Amino acid sequence: MLEIPCPWCGRRAEIEFICGGEGSIVRPLDTDAMTDEAWGDYVFMRHNPKGLHHEQWRHASGCGRWFNALRDTVSYRIHATWKIGETAPDLSAGEQP
Ligand SMILES: [Zn+2]
Repeated sequence: MLEIPCPWCGRRAEIEFICGGEGSIVRPLDTDAMTDEAWGDYVFMRHNPKGLHHEQWRHASGCGRWFNALRDTVSYRIHATWKIGETAPDLSAGEQP
């Protein structure tokens, strides 16, 4: 069973979490000035990489909090998780425990 490390609760079973899709998507501030194409890109267009992907997850059956995760879309392995508003961990020296 896959375990996901919640930044607040520690490792828990995958069934306690939901994936909220791609992370770091910022809502545009001046939506009235946006073209329909730009708005459509913001609402619908997402990256779908093969490999590492920055996502947002929620510990729905636990603390209920959202957090960031770096997941490999090929192996499904989660390499790191961190709290919203924090800087992503530096994985160059190794992975999170
Ligand atoms: Zn949690």
